[in-house]
Amino acid sequence: MELQAIYQTLGVSPAVYRYGEAALNRLRDRFADIDRTAEYNQAKVLHAMQQNRVNATHFAATTGYGYDDEGRDNLERVYAAVFHTEAALVRPQITCGTHALTVALSANLLPGDELLSPVGAPYDTLEEVIGIRPSKCSLREYGVTYAQADLLPCGGFDYEAIRSRINERTKLITIQRSKGYATRPSFSVAEIGKLIAFCKSVKPDVKVMVDNCYGEFVETREPSDLGADMVVGSLIKNPGGGLAPIGGYICGTNECVERCAYRLSAPGLGQEVGANLGLMPAFYQGLFLAPTVTAGALKGAVFAANLYEGLGFSCVPNASEERHDIIQAVTLGSREAMLAFCRGIQAAAPVDSYVTPEPWAMPGYDSEVVMAAGAFVQGSSIELSADGPIRPPYAVYFQGGLTWQHAKLGILMSLQKLTEAGLARLPE
Ligand SMILES: *Cc1c(COP(=O)(O)O)cnc(C)c1O
Repeated sequence: MELQAIYQTLGVSPAVYRYGEAALNRLRDRFADIDRTAEYNQAKVLHAMQQNRVNATHFAATTGYGYDDEGRDNLERVYAAVFHTEAALVRPQITCGTHALTVALSANLLPGDELLSPVGAPYDTLEEVIGIRPSKCSLREYGVTYAQADLLPCGGFDYEAIRSRINERTKLITIQRSKGYATRPSFSVAEIGKLIAFCKSVKPDVKVMVDNCYGEFVETREPSDLGADMVVGSLIKNPGGGLAPIGGYICGTNECVERCAYRLSAPGLGQEVGANLGLMPAFYQGLFLAPTVTAGALKGAVFAANLYEGLGFSCVPNASEERHDIIQAVTLGSREAMLAFCRGIQAAAPVDSYVTPEPWAMPGYDSEVVMAAGAFVQGSSIELSADGPIRPPYAVYFQGGLTWQHAKLGILMSLQKLTEAGLARLPE
């Protein structure tokens, strides 16, 4: 009763609260599994930090060129140990996930090379990076071509199509782990491993990059454990643990990561330059918290699927499926319902809870996008957030929550707004 009362203070009606509790009662075993994965990953991160003798000197700020930045260099060793790779590039100079992916692609593809996506279309912002949508400075402008094998209607890999698209120019294969703004399934690390093995059986010297955004620490293994030459992601998603205010990472082989460092700074300079600007405490501590923060976000995603599927909305993944990333797509069917959902997420935020999300033409996306986020770090999607392009099937993509409790409140508030607008009805 005390909980129901404080939720009511926050704007959640007793009916919505009770519907949520009923859904939650069926999720105890799922939550226990998520906690076990977090426990394993916490130990993995801790071991990487102990092995690399992390100490207070690693938290010191550097400025200017950042030569001999021991905190930065050691953080990269810690990331390499976590992802079981030879090398890592982890920098505040990598401004976002798209930038990290751009560095990884443009460093490892030369004019005349071909990039292949064996998993259908890539994330929206990569269309301009690759040049699928014409754009200045795209890979295409530099003479790198692109090929794609679509997924089968069931969502599986089309191995015959993939085999036929691999040719003598195929240099790099890009696999996106998470569905992004699509309603296809996200892939498990095991599935990605199988796909990597297949591609390398067709062409042994081909390099494989995995866009690891939103997938880190969801499972106990990462794609780099199963043959990926590079795994790439953003620090304002899972691995930053909510504390990193900027940054991206590329973990992989010495050969690939060295090229990425030359592309990021300059040929000849590579990893030697790049001051940490005082961000090391946030990067180390964020990585330390990342397994449990990811677990909280995962619980929120599972809870949302169970709540909304129970009301007749289609969810990807569905209420009972295993999880491979922290994103939950809920198909709401109309622009109005998307806006109501986002109003609820916004109203639940610790920051900017009083503002109303409005659709806008966001750079890098080809339709209007609505976003709800009241985040401590602008654009951070490991914090509770919801977004989606306003186009059929009007699906909203929900993710994050620095704590499970906050994710829960956000989902209850989204349902509250939908019921208030008459766009969802609770069961009798
Ligand atoms: C978020 C995301 C990106 C891009 O990251 P930004 O930080 O938004 O630039 C790329 N790929 C996937 C799958 C993502 O989820």
